[in-house]
Amino acid sequence: MPELPEVETVRRSLLALLPHKKISGVEIFTPTLLAAGDAQAFAELAGHEFCDFGRRGKYLLFGFDNAARLVVHLRMTGKLLYHPAAEARQKHDHARFRFEDGSELVYNDTRKFGRFWLTDEAGLANVSGLSTLGVEPLDAEFSARYLHWQLARHPKAKLKAVLLDQTVVAGLGNIYADEVLFRAGVHPERAAAGLSTAEEERLANAMREILQKAIESRGTTFRDYVDGNNERGGYQEQLKVFQKQGEPCPNCGHTIERIRVAGRSSCFCPHCQPAE
Ligand SMILES: [Zn+2]
Repeated sequence: MPELPEVETVRRSLLALLPHKKISGVEIFTPTLLAAGDAQAFAELAGHEFCDFGRRGKYLLFGFDNAARLVVHLRMTGKLLYHPAAEARQKHDHARFRFEDGSELVYNDTRKFGRFWLTDEAGLANVSGLSTLGVEPLDAEFSARYLHWQLARHPKAKLKAVLLDQTVVAGLGNIYADEVLFRAGVHPERAAAGLSTAEEERLANAMREILQKAIESRGTTFRDYVDGNNERGGYQEQLKVFQKQGEPCPNCGHTIERIRVAGRSSCFCPHCQPAE
């Protein structure tokens, strides 16, 4: 699933491609893609342009020059793909924005879990999960102090589960939660509220460092993820523990283990990330 670095990479790739392109038409092939807005509302985007390219957590936030807003969540396998010239519709293409210069932006999604919300500024409050997102881990408001306060709200929960909670920190998913916990040297099943101040500082720093590095590497392509140019990410080369169960820990050589925490697979080094 695309997480913060992948969604940010998609955002940046589209920011480099779409400004000043006038929309000539929008086709919605799969109406269930739309959580808000209908085919008629999309058709009314003709003659307008994408002019705002934002992101919150794993949500893409687009604006148009008619004040309409489009929120996109790629979920598991959603891809926004730019084609310099129109192409034949592919299997799993669910929507297409056509531009007057002949180029197009296609939404392709094998699993069909992704969602579009076409709304206005006020309607953003109705986008499920958007208004309750926690702080962006790369923003100035994020700190070990913020993390401490958030972890303290979940005294009985396991740490990994709390890090995946989008109301705590926006944009972390399974890949980066495992990598962050490894970098910080903290076991995924530790009690969220039981960390020392030093551990909370290590965790906050690891989050910033790893997400920043992953954005610089244009995200992680494990299976499906590509950016708007259909280009794979590069951070998979730098992963230390995610999906590496049975392999030696790059720090100490102990075998990396895999357990389930809150229903999600979690890889960690039992030596570098002790349970107590
Ligand atoms: Zn280790």
